Amino acid sequence: MSDLSITRLDSQQDDFAAELDRLLAWESVSDGKVNQIVDEILGRVKAEGDAAVVEYTNRFDRLQVESMAELEMSQERLHNALDNLPAEQRQALETAAERVRGYHERQKGESWQYSEADGTMLGQKVTPMDRVGLYVPGGKASYPSSVLMNAMPAKVAGVAEIIMVVPTPDGEVNELVLAAAALAGVDRVFCVGGAQAVAALAYGTETVPKVDKIVGPGNIFVATAKRAVFGAVGIDMIAGPSEILVVCDGKTDPDWIAMDLFSQAEHDEDAQSILVSPDADFISAVEASINKLLPTMERKSIIDVSLRERAALIKVKDMDEAMEVTNRIAPEHLELSVEDPESLVPKVRHAGAIFMGRYTAEALGDYCAGPNHVLPTSGTARFSSPLGVYDFQKRSSLIMFSAEGASEMGKVASVLARGESLTAHARSAEYRIKKD
Ligand code: NAD
Repeated sequence: MSDLSITRLDSQQDDFAAELDRLLAWESVSDGKVNQIVDEILGRVKAEGDAAVVEYTNRFDRLQVESMAELEMSQERLHNALDNLPAEQRQALETAAERVRGYHERQKGESWQYSEADGTMLGQKVTPMDRVGLYVPGGKASYPSSVLMNAMPAKVAGVAEIIMVVPTPDGEVNELVLAAAALAGVDRVFCVGGAQAVAALAYGTETVPKVDKIVGPGNIFVATAKRAVFGAVGIDMIAGPSEILVVCDGKTDPDWIAMDLFSQAEHDEDAQSILVSPDADFISAVEASINKLLPTMERKSIIDVSLRERAALIKVKDMDEAMEVTNRIAPEHLELSVEDPESLVPKVRHAGAIFMGRYTAEALGDYCAGPNHVLPTSGTARFSSPLGVYDFQKRSSLIMFSAEGASEMGKVASVLARGESLTAHARSAEYRIKKD
């Protein structure tokens, strides 16, 4: 394999801002042909229910089943998978599950209320969703960690029923995925995937119950279907390819940094890995490590394409400028591989997750650190947050006026309602104004 040529940028070059924009440009889900395919699948599942889901599953996942019942995994089957895991895997899964649960328990929002002097009470009531659908991808790889990351916050929120869908191409079932579902307390599991699975969850079929919200990552068919059913159900986010931005002061082992960049690049050819450093010699050392280590990687062909097409090594003036570039990128994963990460954190305004210090490899966050690994991508950290317990809780406002309060506020409401020419509103409020 010849040496990789990775895009090199320098903040001092004249066209730096334009080059950075070009690097970050990413077409979100908007493929006309995929839209057409997905629309047809959604329409047929809505109209024909189970029969259409079975037909599409047989076609796309190369199965030969006759009914939805054959595609459901019983609780007994899930618990068998958990019981039969090799001890080392079971222990790792349990450790990860406990840590993810512990972190998310701290996120749980509580109801609150307060009273005013005249006895009026105002507040907010927090309620978990009744039923949510969890999409676990399974086309090209299996993701037991995604089962935990999606199911655990729902469980902590108190969601009454969790329905999971996961494709099993060629009938290949991943035991670790089923074991994770058992451990997380998933209620029902259907071996279906793609747009047909999203449709079944959004509209309900004879066998698959309709859910209130669908969460979880997936390929372009899944993402397009989620976008299309939004409104009929809630969705978490539309996830783009994975990203990592490493900011390094030049004092971390270059091999560690190269491997951290690989850890996102190996996800898929479109993944983006970027290094930002004020130290030009260090950037060259990391490049040398990349070329040394790449041939040893199992997924080298994916990493190779990802690094060639989407990666960059960026030289900046100093750490302040590194933070400006970071905020412009708003990365999904940010590694601050520096001596004193705490001094930089206040300057970070946009990042899905911030990994602090040389020892904090992003990979730990993918599996077992505790925080969620479902994070905003493609710059959306500017306005959105990691998946969390709050995504599975709703808030209702509480309003209770005393006679006194209704009289006082009635006068205010009456004036505003008459200003809007909404007479019924005004009179409804005025009835409750005390007549002295
Ligand atoms: P997937 O489960 O998303 O998709 C597989 C399904 O796609 C199949 O079951 C099939 O129904 C459908 N499909 C495939 N080809 C089709 C076609 N031509 N027409 C209609 N439907 C078709 O699995 P995947 O393909 O492996 O993709 C998983 C994605 O999820 C990857 O992009 C991966 O990077 C991403 N992912 C993201 C995270 C995260 O946290 N952000 C975690 C895990 C995976």
